[in-house]
Amino acid sequence: MEKGICAICHIPTRSTRYFSVRAEGSLFHYQRCSVCGLVFLDPQPGPEELLGYYGRSYYGRGEQKFAGGIEALRFAFARTRVSRLQKFLPRSGRALDIGCGQGTFLQLLRGKGWEVQGTELTEEPARRARQAGIPIFLGEIQEGKFGEETLDLVTLWHVIEHLREPSTVVERIRLVLKDRGIVAISTPNIESLQARIFREKWFHLDPPRHLYLFSPDTLQRLMAQAGFRLIRVSHFSMEQNPYGWLQSSLNRLTASEGSLYTLLKSQAGDYRRRIEPAMAIHLLLSLGLMPTCFFLAFLLGWMKREGTMEAYFKKEDGFRKQG
Ligand SMILES: [Zn+2]
Repeated sequence: MEKGICAICHIPTRSTRYFSVRAEGSLFHYQRCSVCGLVFLDPQPGPEELLGYYGRSYYGRGEQKFAGGIEALRFAFARTRVSRLQKFLPRSGRALDIGCGQGTFLQLLRGKGWEVQGTELTEEPARRARQAGIPIFLGEIQEGKFGEETLDLVTLWHVIEHLREPSTVVERIRLVLKDRGIVAISTPNIESLQARIFREKWFHLDPPRHLYLFSPDTLQRLMAQAGFRLIRVSHFSMEQNPYGWLQSSLNRLTASEGSLYTLLKSQAGDYRRRIEPAMAIHLLLSLGLMPTCFFLAFLLGWMKREGTMEAYFKKEDGFRKQG
């Protein structure tokens, strides 16, 4: 993506500085397109530099990303994600999960009789998914040889905000999906109350890995350009939203940003020795804040203003790209 060009409008638009944030030892700037409202990192790191931000600290060091109890919870959340989706799907079919991580969602879908495959950008999570017997393509979907109109479902769980060229990927998805195929996308919501209150301290900002921050409106615009119609959007996520409130509050209240999140990842062993007092404060604060975080996640989810959103789109028949 060139500097200052919006991924939805595709023309150099007059964008306005949204905010700047220091992360990974550098200062990053987010701009907001004055035409469509898309918020994007500008300038964006090149592909090589970007890959460097997805190290072992991002994926966790052991056989899984998070510590044992949290992995069990993630498994339970993936199970509810499958049952929510099933209402919109045929009984069985072929699915592709882009950025599938260690493949938990795909394993569950396979258990329902689906033929599944995934893509990943780096070897570590791909290795874990392959161990579970899931075929993984290492690279971007547009580089892979996925047959045209062969898939019933393509999913991007907290992936689209990481993509360098989201519109290219969405157009590619259109090609590989059968008519009336479904795309499911979850992503942070920049129009949420969490985002507005916490701004540069918002947990779901995650610079420089999150290149694009969508709102329900900008996500729908991106998808409509490639011939997809929105069929459902939900702002309830007990996996993402209470934690978004909690970690963003901790980021505001304490100096050591994200340390609770680091503890939850399976590199906890060497981390605990280093900042034990700070961690104790984080854990105590977390216990105190947790009830309020759950209450806010329910309330704002109901008001459709929550920190993340999950949207399902259907491939429209007879769509012709304009221009
Ligand atoms: Zn725009």
